[in-house]
Amino acid sequence: MKKIAITGGKGGAGKSTCAILFARELIKKGKQVLLCDCDVECPNGYLLLGQKLKKPVEKIYAEFPTLNKTKCAKCGLCVKTCRSNAVFQGQGQYPVFIKNLCSNCGACWIVCPNKAIEPKKEEIGQIFINPVKKNFWLLTGQANPGLEETGPVVTQTKKIALDFAKKKKIDFVLFDTAPGTHCPVISALMGCDSAYAITEPTPMGAYDLNLILDLCRKLKVPTKIILNQSDLGDKRKIAKIAKKYKIKIEKEIPYSKKLVKAYSKGKLLNFELD
Ligand code: SF4
Ligand code: SF4
Repeated sequence: MKKIAITGGKGGAGKSTCAILFARELIKKGKQVLLCDCDVECPNGYLLLGQKLKKPVEKIYAEFPTLNKTKCAKCGLCVKTCRSNAVFQGQGQYPVFIKNLCSNCGACWIVCPNKAIEPKKEEIGQIFINPVKKNFWLLTGQANPGLEETGPVVTQTKKIALDFAKKKKIDFVLFDTAPGTHCPVISALMGCDSAYAITEPTPMGAYDLNLILDLCRKLKVPTKIILNQSDLGDKRKIAKIAKKYKIKIEKEIPYSKKLVKAYSKGKLLNFELD
């Protein structure tokens, strides 16, 4: 089973479009394909495939700290330990846990000398599975609205996707990541065999490409570049970055009105690239 990430620092550069077009090529060759939408704050793969998210097949839970004041000595160790700045303590006060910043690492309840912090399980997201074709499935991870720290949702989404892929004897799992280079993107890239960085020939495209290639290099994920809307801007900056990282521009996709129409109508799976 090959695990391939479709990523790229910049939002709107065409990651999801390329992920579906890539899936389509593999399906045509008779491969079993699972597309895993890891853009859990704003998954859109189902819209581009003309699907609906119906009943979740699984719920994702995480543990959050709760304070037992009767045991707390206000020592402040939990505040010093939390690397997400999710614990606040006013002078002489009990610590306060800021749920939206918490990454559920568990460090605070491990270090607390009085066992005053108790983990409480809460739902943070949901998983949906759409059987799109005989040999093609879409698995969507969706974080609950308002959740700030979505890395754990991505980690769980990937785990469930890989279990599903093993059961179905999938040949290729494509992980469509969120834009950026933050925790949810790192969670999606970790453990992938390779990645495609989707970009466009604009100054922002070049800037974000540099960041994502640097991240992929640090994570030791071999990466190739796909240049979308390749005829709409100045490719020289992209070529320069590709040269810097000694990475190939695998494919250039010129702007296509037909492709934009297929995108907007949720018909990407049947689209033929010229
Ligand atoms: S580490 Fe434990 S005892 Fe110390 S302030 Fe935090 S909760 Fe209270
Ligand atoms: S679980 Fe981790 S991130 Fe959350 S408050 Fe405790 S130390 Fe901070």
